Amino acid sequence: MIPLRARALEFHNAPVGQADVVRVSLSPERPEVVRAQEGYVVGAEAVPNGFAWYLLASADDLVRLPGNAQAVVAPDQTKFLGQGDVIAVDPKRKALRVLYRRCSPYNHFLLTERCNNYCLMCSQPPRDVEDGWIVDEILRAIPLVSRDAIEIGFTGGEPTLLGERFLELVQAAASHLPRTALHILSNGRQFADGRLAAKLASIGHHDLMLGIPLYSDLAHLHDHVVQADGAYDETVRGILALKASSVRVEIRVVLQAQTVGRLPNLARFISRNLLFVDHVALMGLEPTGFARANLEAIWADPVDYANELSAAVRILAGAGIRTSVYNSQLCVMPTEVRPYARRSISDWKQTYLPECENCTSKQECAGFFASVTHARSRGIRPI
Ligand code: SF4
Repeated sequence: MIPLRARALEFHNAPVGQADVVRVSLSPERPEVVRAQEGYVVGAEAVPNGFAWYLLASADDLVRLPGNAQAVVAPDQTKFLGQGDVIAVDPKRKALRVLYRRCSPYNHFLLTERCNNYCLMCSQPPRDVEDGWIVDEILRAIPLVSRDAIEIGFTGGEPTLLGERFLELVQAAASHLPRTALHILSNGRQFADGRLAAKLASIGHHDLMLGIPLYSDLAHLHDHVVQADGAYDETVRGILALKASSVRVEIRVVLQAQTVGRLPNLARFISRNLLFVDHVALMGLEPTGFARANLEAIWADPVDYANELSAAVRILAGAGIRTSVYNSQLCVMPTEVRPYARRSISDWKQTYLPECENCTSKQECAGFFASVTHARSRGIRPI
């Protein structure tokens, strides 16, 4: 796993106050005008002047810096930093956070930790905290993201709880990244009355997709999974409102014990009532956060729901809905489902087992979440 957050050992000449957001440079040749918004990773060569921050692997290099240079010593982190990454240097919290990795196709910005659902398998358990500073930080990061980025994501918590600030972030992504797709994970509830959906649509983002979880065709089952009465009704109305405003929607279904038995029923419900959605993703469980705590109650071995998964894929694909299976290992899914599987686990948290070394399908297989120590199918075998 690549550490995206490191406790920085030492700060030098650091201002007090909010974190500084800078782009990483490995090159001493950068134009003077951009150096003021960049952090330079100090290597063996002569250290150039003018960068906002100097990022060091060792405190021994401090003597090589220009006078009064702002510097942070973070040995664990500097070796993973690449040209064009975006980081937050945070003297107050004694931390260095990687906000964007240029070489990765998986870049998600967590907008808030607050949420109005409390899902049994939430991988990012919500916290009711005042975290508006996160939005400020991301608004400073977005202009520094590479214009070549294929896609970025917004996640949470529930991003739409930010209201106007959520829209401000979408607008920033649209303005600064005119060729980059934006994928937003939301429970969809705030869109139910249509007003927020219309405002979002009016931004006119060039390539926007909302990923919204729907766990069952039965309202009470969905509400149980998300631990919120009335959530199902709002989520379905939210999906309808977004589509009515011409915002693209992906339905996300996490494959877990409470709901997997009715997966074909859910597929049938979607194909009859929500046929116009743009994508359905059937997703293996990420065993972290609440999912880890509730693992015994929610974990289902993929070999035990193979028939339901096959049937659901057949129904959805047969209805002409673009369908994918995420976060699942090829060897434990039926052969007919494998063409729908995607290598979906972010590179920084993806891993394989020793038995995968002899597998001819490893390059196509999603592998495992690095956090997987308990939830592992009994059917894992090299192909
Ligand atoms: S053996 Fe490993 S790499 Fe091969 S399909 Fe199974 S999980 Fe994937």
